[in-house]
Amino acid sequence: MNKEFAVIGLGRFGGSIVKELREMETDVLAIDIDEERVNEFADIATQSVIGNTTDETVLKNLGLRNFDNVIVAIGDNIQSSILTTLLLKDLGVKKVTVKAQSDYHARVLDKIGADVVVHPERDMGRRIAHRLVSSSVLDYLELSDEHSIVEIYATEKLAEQTLLDLDIRAEYGVSVIAIKRGSDIIVSPDPTVNIKETDVLIVIGTDDDLNKFEKLLN
Ligand code: ADP
Repeated sequence: MNKEFAVIGLGRFGGSIVKELREMETDVLAIDIDEERVNEFADIATQSVIGNTTDETVLKNLGLRNFDNVIVAIGDNIQSSILTTLLLKDLGVKKVTVKAQSDYHARVLDKIGADVVVHPERDMGRRIAHRLVSSSVLDYLELSDEHSIVEIYATEKLAEQTLLDLDIRAEYGVSVIAIKRGSDIIVSPDPTVNIKETDVLIVIGTDDDLNKFEKLLN
């Protein structure tokens, strides 16, 4: 098997990563401490094994040091998640991606050398909150603690005007980086392009400025 991806923890999150990687015809080694979970993935993963990844010998015997990408998707057991991450980095795994359960967990993971820390529940909660507050928001992507990108319908409020007329950057402090029109995407739109009601604007800015802009289009 190609030693590119290994996933530790076969709960909802880890399990869906294994399935998606397999859909993309990528080899995946799936590991869990729980026999039942491992059996569930026997026909899905390229190889599935029972193992407690907080044990360094287990990691060595599985040859995890030879994998390019290891995803740690251990759920509520924060201690096991941290210890597993530490051992993987000590073994020299190039890229360790870890699911964080809380902001504190994420901070510890950063400190001990996790390469990518993901926080799927928090991120999804934020995305859904934005869609609930403004019916014109289609998607929301956090870039940093202060900056995001939002995908939002132009609505009748911006229709038949140009970016130049609206002076969005000066008025709202946000920038339109692309316009989706049907299946077309106009990247770096010309400021004189006429906006249509059904256009979807892809807008970048600080969270404060984007919130004001979202409210305007609600
Ligand atoms: P989710 O929220 O993604 O559904 P879960 O908590 O259900 O997460 O899943 C985490 C998985 O991680 C469980 O299947 C659990 O058995 C596994 N796990 C927990 N500790 C270890 C460990 N030390 N070694 C390997 N797998 C572990």
